[in-house]
Amino acid sequence: MKAEKYRFDGSQPCVLRRLPCDSREDDVEKADILEKTEQNLQRMAELQDAFYADGREGLILVLQALDAAGKDSTVKHVMGGLNPQGVQVTSFKQPNAEELSHDFLWRVNKALPPRGSIAIFNRSYYEDVLVVQVHDLQKGYRMAPRVKEDDPKEFFRKRYRQIRHYEEYLYENSYRVVKIFLHVSKEEQKQRFLERIDKPEKNWKFSDADIKERALFEQYLTTYDEVITATASEHSPWYALPADQKWYTRYLVSEIMVDALEHCTHEYPKLEKESRDRLLECKKALESE
Ligand code: AMP
Ligand code: MG
Repeated sequence: MKAEKYRFDGSQPCVLRRLPCDSREDDVEKADILEKTEQNLQRMAELQDAFYADGREGLILVLQALDAAGKDSTVKHVMGGLNPQGVQVTSFKQPNAEELSHDFLWRVNKALPPRGSIAIFNRSYYEDVLVVQVHDLQKGYRMAPRVKEDDPKEFFRKRYRQIRHYEEYLYENSYRVVKIFLHVSKEEQKQRFLERIDKPEKNWKFSDADIKERALFEQYLTTYDEVITATASEHSPWYALPADQKWYTRYLVSEIMVDALEHCTHEYPKLEKESRDRLLECKKALESE
């Protein structure tokens, strides 16, 4: 699996600045990758069918990235072939007042899928250790003094632990969490922003806040390194995927989805002899109509 190279399971630290944002190192051909992506999308649909019928395990795909790295288009192009009945997408925006008056995992719990379904998190609880940390938003939170006394490093170190435990809890309750970071370069982000400004049908995707966040690009990379390193585990790995070429990113995401679904239980329920006999009786009745 090509995506293997980009996998973090906690055994080594993540250093994004040493990882590629494009496919050059991987020695691949676009035509070949496009064909393989198609095959993966078909395989995903087949596996999902059995995974849904089986209903013993749930899958959560977390998508994180800086702006314009391709989260939305990944959802559209890689997940678009799944049966919508077994998929739910949640986009995590700035928390509203009700959400802020609860613990940060409260809104996440509400977005968990039933077993047999796939939840796609377009942004996630990881924002609570990323944007919140980069902007020191926790300083404005209404929380007990004993919580707010911690220095920021300590506050977020505790959140990393809480996230690790939460993902372990989910795993032990028959869910799998797979986390993907779309690693876009600063230059490619600039090109995509320019396109969003130039093309009227893309204007809605751009806001001047994006420029302010871009100014913190390096700080985000450093924070992502820390977050990925602290929360990657064997059961809930991170993948830091090159995101400058969408055709390659989509391929890698499709590989990861096939792999994740293959690991999830996906057996069609088998009938006991008695139920099988009853089915055969029904068949006879139908045929003799
Ligand atoms: P978008 O994904 O472009 O629609 O933007 C959603 C915005 O909500 C991003 O700027 C996120 O950083 C922000 N956001 C998501 N979760 C949180 C959070 N827990 N705290 C603060 N901002 C958040
Ligand atoms: Mg945005």
